[in-house]
Amino acid sequence: MTEASRLTLDLDALASNHALLRAAAGGAEIAPAVKADGYGLGAALVAGRLWDEGARSFYVARLSEGVALRRSLGDRAATIYLLDGVTPGAAPAIEAAGLTPVLNSLPQIEAWNSHARGRVLDAALHIDTGMNRLGLRPEEAAVLVGAMDRLKFLNITLVISHLACAGEPDHPLNARQRARFVEAAALFPDARRSLANSGGTFLGEAFRFDQCRPGISLYGGGPRDVPDTRIKAVATLEAPILQARVVPRGESIGYGAAFTAQDTTRVAILAAGYADGVPRAAHPRGSVWFDGARRPMLGRVSMDLIAVDITDCDAARPGALMQIIGPDLPVDEAAAAAGTTSYELLTRIAPRARRVIKGG
Ligand SMILES: *Cc1c(COP(=O)(O)O)cnc(C)c1O
Repeated sequence: MTEASRLTLDLDALASNHALLRAAAGGAEIAPAVKADGYGLGAALVAGRLWDEGARSFYVARLSEGVALRRSLGDRAATIYLLDGVTPGAAPAIEAAGLTPVLNSLPQIEAWNSHARGRVLDAALHIDTGMNRLGLRPEEAAVLVGAMDRLKFLNITLVISHLACAGEPDHPLNARQRARFVEAAALFPDARRSLANSGGTFLGEAFRFDQCRPGISLYGGGPRDVPDTRIKAVATLEAPILQARVVPRGESIGYGAAFTAQDTTRVAILAAGYADGVPRAAHPRGSVWFDGARRPMLGRVSMDLIAVDITDCDAARPGALMQIIGPDLPVDEAAAAAGTTSYELLTRIAPRARRVIKGG
């Protein structure tokens, strides 16, 4: 019985991508980003397998994600870095869950240091080198080192920064950020260093430092936002055909009559729509994969349905599954057709898709 969209998660593909990133990272540690519920695939699931593959450090964004990950890892003593850092009032909960906050600002440093008072607590420090999102400016880091009592109860184990253009190897900001990072990190000579996300891990030895923090390329997205044949699809989203029909020449399909058949057209109606994570913006360039070929989507994406051209495709019958993303339709390609990225596509796959797990 196939009546709903299906999301197959291939854990062996995840392990293969992990091995690829490990090779690209040289001797640097791979500390997977598992924020946003493991990029929509299930943080407990992906972190469990990545632990089995040797990962011992993970990154989450929100406190709630860190608490859930700590619970799911049980007695597996991973380091869990909390990218949001010490938000107001959060210090006791961060400590209780055994999370290592990434301190992003002087007030966050103050909050963690005063929470630690009398003891010593681990922390990572985020230096902003050009993203202008989170992190201390390099000049603030220098001031901090001149006022060491602000760090009196803190053990800074790691200094991180984040690249804005790692997917574009020739972008001049990469070298500029690296230079600023090296200079600021030198203020904390006992701390390990981490600069690279997925894209950064492939920028060469100069960007790897002690630890790389890949996310998207573990989960099947290319490090440059385009399909990369070295990286395997981890998520396969499929939907069954509910109905096959013939649309006569001159008639339209779907809301807004946005597509008109120029000829007699055979159409499959699939049980997936934007409520399953198919972007509404997939119209008019999106397609699905079925029976050896890409089949264009026709008309607007509805909440629960999409229409697909199956002219000259005899195999398209009710119940047959069509691939929306997966090994034959890379997530980067599907994302580009909808004007978005693999990151957004994966994190928007909805709970309505039935999860199937493949691999050990
Ligand atoms: C999300 C994130 C990563 C992982 O980035 P990818 O592009 O998915 O590899 C690494 N570091 C930080 C600070 C992040 O926010």
